[in-house]
Amino acid sequence: MNRKKKKITLLIPAYNEQEALPLFYDTVSRLADEMSVSYDWELLFVNDGSSDGTMNIIRDLAASDSRVRYVDLSRNYGKETAMLAGFDNADGDCVITIDADLQEPPSAIPAMLAKWEEGFKDVYGRRRHRDQGIMKKTMSRVYHKLLSGMSGDVRLTDDAGDFRLLDRQCVDALRKIRETQRYTKGLYDLIGFSKTPVEYDIARRVAGTSKWSARKLMHLAADGIMSHSVVPLRLASYVGLIVSVIAFIYLIIVLVKALFWGDAVAGYPTIVSLILFLGGFILLALGIIGEYLGRIFLETKRRPPYFVNSVSPRNNEN
Ligand code: UDP
Ligand code: MG
Repeated sequence: MNRKKKKITLLIPAYNEQEALPLFYDTVSRLADEMSVSYDWELLFVNDGSSDGTMNIIRDLAASDSRVRYVDLSRNYGKETAMLAGFDNADGDCVITIDADLQEPPSAIPAMLAKWEEGFKDVYGRRRHRDQGIMKKTMSRVYHKLLSGMSGDVRLTDDAGDFRLLDRQCVDALRKIRETQRYTKGLYDLIGFSKTPVEYDIARRVAGTSKWSARKLMHLAADGIMSHSVVPLRLASYVGLIVSVIAFIYLIIVLVKALFWGDAVAGYPTIVSLILFLGGFILLALGIIGEYLGRIFLETKRRPPYFVNSVSPRNNEN
């Protein structure tokens, strides 16, 4: 019996990666050639509104290699949305998301596929050690602890990123989640399915520079918390409660002092500091509510998460 080969989609979000792409393609296409006996391959590039020659390179690759397909987004939407566009257009029985800069080694892919064949639905790459500053590393660790703690059902592994193999079932699940303020790392855990790690060493970028500015990272961090947890909203009630209790105790102290010792109460400094403290806290609480409200506003419009310029035709020879 001649069973049909399974198809593997490599999903590559690319934003201004003209320097890295040729190297990336060389490495990956060699791997695909080596494993072509066992699998069919699809190299699906998502051009995330690049302003350099990225799209031209991708189009050339698609013209010369039938395994290459692309989705050309109408502008830069960010990696999270670019991945969604990829999931929507991937044909494979499983999808492997991988960065275009070769920081995530394609050499780990065979191990991932082996785990998939064993029956795991979500094989995530786990960084063995990180080539990052101590600052970024610590902040990321604290953040993931915090987020895991805040969002009951979502367990996040700090060392796992977007380099992972997802079974078709996982991909279809992720596609059902159409929220625009995406934090995919949380979504992997949200959808469930059997998971297992594959270790890899993160490398330096082969070319170009990191596309994550501090501002974008902050946004992503906020999206992570606000779309997976309502703990910040509760913060206001907790602090409100604590402040009321303290205020009550303070009131008793002031009363007792005035009644039994006849202490003149020093009014001005206490009042000013209390007003400032409470005023500051109320503004903070309002801000938090505003953040959530903003997200509700954006989601209720039900805008499509992205628009595309063009998608390469599906090759239906299989
Ligand atoms: N990326 C993207 N859109 C963006 C930013 C990044 O598609 O707005 C892609 C980028 O081309 C790369 C991957 O996401 O393939 C990871 O980006 P980068 O290497 O800059 O992130 P880092 O490795 O520094 O976290
Ligand atoms: Mg990178």
